[in-house]
Amino acid sequence: MLTRENAGALLTIDLDAICANWRTLRDLAHPAICSAVIKADAYGLGAAQVAIALAAAGCKHFFVAFTHEALLLRPQLPPDVTLYVLHGCLPGTEEDLAAHKLVPVLVSLSQLDAWTALARKLGKRLPAAIQVDTGMSRLGLSSQELAILTADPTRLDGVDLRYLMSHFASSEQKNNPFNRQQLVRFLEIRKALPSTPASLCNSSGVFLGSDYHFDLVRPGAALYGIAPSVGEPNPMKQVVRLQAKVIQVRTIDAGVGVGYGSTWRAPSTRRIATVAVGYADGYLRAASNTAVAYVGDTPLQLVGTVSMDTITLDVSKLPENTLGSGSLVDLINDRHPIDALAQETGTIAYEILTGLSPRYFRQYVGG
Ligand SMILES: *Cc1c(COP(=O)(O)O)cnc(C)c1O
Repeated sequence: MLTRENAGALLTIDLDAICANWRTLRDLAHPAICSAVIKADAYGLGAAQVAIALAAAGCKHFFVAFTHEALLLRPQLPPDVTLYVLHGCLPGTEEDLAAHKLVPVLVSLSQLDAWTALARKLGKRLPAAIQVDTGMSRLGLSSQELAILTADPTRLDGVDLRYLMSHFASSEQKNNPFNRQQLVRFLEIRKALPSTPASLCNSSGVFLGSDYHFDLVRPGAALYGIAPSVGEPNPMKQVVRLQAKVIQVRTIDAGVGVGYGSTWRAPSTRRIATVAVGYADGYLRAASNTAVAYVGDTPLQLVGTVSMDTITLDVSKLPENTLGSGSLVDLINDRHPIDALAQETGTIAYEILTGLSPRYFRQYVGG
């Protein structure tokens, strides 16, 4: 069994910070409704824990990607909560979706047809949202499909249409003109279809201003502390702290190599701490020789390549004997947030969060 004592690293998840971030987004988007995106196990932080805390804070609309994610959560959440499935009704999931009152976000005409066919079979209207493509070319009805639908709106018969939705490609770049182009396209599509509440914004979109908010916003990343807008101060509270244990500390001479391939060599006598986290824990190998960790206020350089279960840090800056076997170093914390680690690692904070290992001992605070 995984315990605080036998784990290599401790992951602390602050549910109060997630709820505070949700309130910040809710207030910004007001009077639009603020939902929460909890796909991929709430970006790796625990969908059930996060959703229960947010439901208690007043959130009533939750989005996951897959039907199976929604089926796991449904019994754990209050009955007045609505669960939406962003991948819509993948073939074979329709009956489950309907039986558990889940709301698929239909992404194509064929999904719409499958959903209305089931509605006819069951002899009742079934709830759904519809996603339309406004330029991302990922999910949602295409222009061609929309032309067919607007020519024959009876194809919507049997659907209790909750929201018309689309999704941004670049909303984290506030000044990217593509945001407004997507908004304009969304408004055109909206006019051509029967009047329906609308939803366009992910986290970053919420920060583009009230023109973009419509009736419901769908933040994920910002709830979990990820910076919503590139090049601007992050208004969100940090949610995650990752502390890993030192296994051993050694002193090496000038010229001695560290780790696989000896990609780093000590320029002078150095003290090296070997720490119990590696790429098998989602601590990406791309962090080799680039990431930093912290002990108190002191940044420590990761040296050498990241191994499967270990990393090596140059801890020469710390007074001798500061660290020993079992000492904790901070890999992610308030002063070294997920976005900083992502930048050092050449990725985005989303990938850091969703990769957080099941080998970490998890503790929740607040909620
Ligand atoms: C993941 C997702 C979101 C949330 O995006 P964030 O950038 O994490 O806020 C919203 N809408 C859709 C359709 C998504 O796939």
